[in-house]
This record gives sequence, structure tokens and C-alpha cells, in this order.
Amino acid sequence: MPPQPITAWRQDMHKTLLALAALTATGAALAAYPEKPVTFVVPFTAGGPTDKVARDLAEVMRKHLNNQTILIENVGGAGGTLGAGKVAKAAPDGYTFLLHHIGMATAPALYRTLPYKVLDDFEYVGMVNEVPMTLIGRPSLPASNYAELVKWLEANKGKVNLANAGLGAASHLCGLLFQQSIKLDMTTVPYKGTAPAMSDLLGGQVDIMCDQTTNTSAQIEGGKVKAYAVTTSKPLSTPALSKLPTLDSQGLKGFNVAVWHGLYAPKGTPKAIVDQVNGALRNALKDPEFIKRQEALGAVVITDARLSPVEHKKFVEAEIAKWGPAIKAAGQYAD
Ligand code: ASP
Repeated sequence: MPPQPITAWRQDMHKTLLALAALTATGAALAAYPEKPVTFVVPFTAGGPTDKVARDLAEVMRKHLNNQTILIENVGGAGGTLGAGKVAKAAPDGYTFLLHHIGMATAPALYRTLPYKVLDDFEYVGMVNEVPMTLIGRPSLPASNYAELVKWLEANKGKVNLANAGLGAASHLCGLLFQQSIKLDMTTVPYKGTAPAMSDLLGGQVDIMCDQTTNTSAQIEGGKVKAYAVTTSKPLSTPALSKLPTLDSQGLKGFNVAVWHGLYAPKGTPKAIVDQVNGALRNALKDPEFIKRQEALGAVVITDARLSPVEHKKFVEAEIAKWGPAIKAAGQYAD
């Protein structure tokens, strides 16, 4: 007797069995993941603000990832684009992630050739926090408030050094907008991160810098640097920074730069793993100790829809559209 054609219900059953098998395989993989240490690449030097966020986050997230170690690999240079490029090319196996900031959205406008595509070469895991920046100066700088700083900058035209973490860094964006707003050009001194830039500022080798509160609040509180202003549109509530005026209130109307951080995986990382890491991220951002620590540094953890991979990506797209024209207008490019 010739073989019977498979009936429709048999085909359905076959599909159901395949789906069940796939689910079981994913479940087994997830139960085991991560089986070895996971790496977070930080595209700036150790000890700086991005590094601090990554280390604090890793410490809490690991509790929700089988207690596996999360290693921090600092790949500083070229304003964060070297580290991002490294992750874009890493194996999409769930063991390499990128913890990056607003530079993810500003680099496309700053580099004629970027070794990765921000929207195509990564899986978006979720956003982490938002951090204001502060405008600070070397301890020996004679200006003691913002108005005096502007006078000093004008009087020292052509001689002022502005530190940053390279083209594409948050400190670069903030410094660029500041120079444009006050219509004064300064000599920029690029570092691989703002940790070494801060050392030079403390030592008086550079004059001023814009940097995240996660790096500056302790120095401001300790009276180790001159603090002139915050870069967000509203003043900050952290005790050390609450008296700092906003740049907006000092005549730079509309000046508003807040640095946001997000977590990324190389494109092709299995969705089940991205979802699991997203779950660990969400749990970490609910951790009272983590929230307290972030708040003490002037940072605010993300609690809105941008915690989801889809909304994280939409936000980055919007940020690319927002900053691109301003950067292009300033005519700053690297090859
Ligand atoms: N704060 C730095 C920046 O300007 C980066 C860092 O060292 O974390 O982007």
C-alpha cells in the first residue's frame, strides 16, 4: 500500500513538536547561561565615569546571572569608538557586551568612517541611567564662579586648554557646545577617558573640562576642583552640587546635556540571552543599594520604557537625529 500523505493535523502536530523541542533547547541553554565569566567592554579608561557605572552595574547584575563574574575590559581611545568597534566584531555568544554612553549616538556625525553601524551591528539590551555633567576647572584657576570664568576665558583667548576623552566622548560634545555657545575656541586635549584627564586637571596641566557628575561630585565636594555650572536644564538635588547654577541660567539658553548609558551585545546574540540579560539589568536597576549609590553621584536610573531593547534602540535613533545636525554645524570631523 502506497504511503499515506501526512494529514493537516499531523503536520500541525509535527510543527508543535518542533517548537517544543526548540523551547526545551532554549530552556536548557538559558538554565546554563552564563556558564563562564561575561565581559563588559567599557570604551574608556578605568576609574572614569563610564567605568564606574559599568563596575557598579556588573556587581549587581551578576547576582541575577548565576553569580557569574562580570569582567570589565577597558578599551579606551578615539572617543569610545575603539571599544564599540571591538564589541561590534565580537562573537555573538552572550559573553561580550558593551556599556557605552551618549557617544553611541554622536559618533556617526563625528566620524567620516566609523568601523561599525550603530543601528545595525548591535543587539540593544536596555538603558541604564542618565547622568548630568559639570563644568569644572583646575584648582589654581583664578575664577571662582561662572561669570568670572567667562571673563578669564576671554582674557586668555588662544591659551586655554580644554580636556576631553576624544572625539565622540560626552566631554567632547559638552565642550564643543560650550565653545560654540560662548563663541570662543579652545585647544582641546584628548585623553582615553576622563580619569586621566581629571588627574591632569588636578595637577594643573589642563584648564577646564566638562565631565559626568559620577566623576566630578567627589572632587567638587572635597573642594579639589573649581566647579562652575551643571549642564542640565534643571539644578541638581545632590547636596554637593545643588548650589551649582545651570549653564542655561547663566545666559546659555537651552543648554542641556545629560549623558545616558546603555548596554549592547554584538548583532546576532540569541534573543533568549538578550532577554535574560535584560531581565538581570531590570533587577539591578531596582536594587535599592544600586539606586542609592547612583543618586549619590548625581545619576538617575532608568525606570521607563527605555529599559526594553526596542525602546532603547528607538531612543538612540532619536538621539542620532537630535545631535547629528548640531555636530555637523560645528564642522567637527575625524577620518
Ligand atoms: N566621561 C568620559 C566622556 O567624556 C568618558 C569616561 O572616561 O568615562 O565621555
